[in-house]
Amino acid sequence: MTVYNFGSINRDLIHEVPHMPAPGETLAAKRYSVGLGGKGANQSVACARAGAKTVHIGAVGQQDTWSLAQLEGFGVDVSQIRRVEAETGHAVIYVDPTGENSIVIQHGANAEQSLEAVEAVLAKANSGDILLLQNETPFTEETAKLGRNRDLFVIYSAAPFEPDAVSAMLPYIDLLVMNRGECEELERRNKMPLADIPVPHVLVTLGADGAIWRDQSDGSVTHVAARKVDAVDTTGAGDCFTGVLAAALSEGKNRKQALEMASAAAAIQVTRPGAAPAMPTRDEIDAALQ
Ligand code: ATP
Repeated sequence: MTVYNFGSINRDLIHEVPHMPAPGETLAAKRYSVGLGGKGANQSVACARAGAKTVHIGAVGQQDTWSLAQLEGFGVDVSQIRRVEAETGHAVIYVDPTGENSIVIQHGANAEQSLEAVEAVLAKANSGDILLLQNETPFTEETAKLGRNRDLFVIYSAAPFEPDAVSAMLPYIDLLVMNRGECEELERRNKMPLADIPVPHVLVTLGADGAIWRDQSDGSVTHVAARKVDAVDTTGAGDCFTGVLAAALSEGKNRKQALEMASAAAAIQVTRPGAAPAMPTRDEIDAALQ
């Protein structure tokens, strides 16, 4: 089975600063690096490195060969990424010595998607393929509907959390993925406990407490513990979990096996700095599962 991921692609411009800049202050960065980012790209990299055929659907700037080379280097199929007039999206990230960060995102090309282009790609998908979506591109609702019509298994990461967008997606998805904070926010906003959220399946990641998958039809809950590791950077842990889970499901693994694989992968990912480059390979995941 193939995993189609319609999602964002960013260049993360990471500045390590002595402290967060105050209003009006000019500050020199101590270190600077550029990394692949965006929730969509992170999930595609996690999924491809875990061994799944992963087709990323998205957009980058005309001149940007770097992002495509990065994605391709991680094993992602980039043939359905369009080049558009806008620049590739980017995130300006400040990280202070305590590890606290501040982030400004410029959506750029991520906002210039074509629903017709997405539809043309999904027209080639087969029943049972997986469609991954997050909240960093336009047309997520329309794309989820297309996925449903083609009998794809639609997985939606409700992040960055935007209550109205998330509520609008609920009728068209199979698996809703949230972290603990997003789940609490959705319950509060909709005045609805987790058990009543109207989707077939809900997955809640709980950081160092692991994750739960709740089948809403019968209320059964499958829990996976997080593995005990010394975490150095949890950026992208949720994206790693979701991408690897999608890869495992695309192989026909059952719920418990998919959760175990995702948990093992995320435990490796948090021991390394960065998001996309920290995603583990399939060999590393298999070794951890031994
Ligand atoms: P982020 O926003 O940092 O990408 P998130 O808030 O979306 O992450 P979390 O629930 O924090 O997602 O983490 C996702 C998964 O990563 C967890 O379910 C767990 O399996 C793994 N994980 C996160 N933190 C740790 C940790 N300290 N040790 C081991 N595994 C962890």
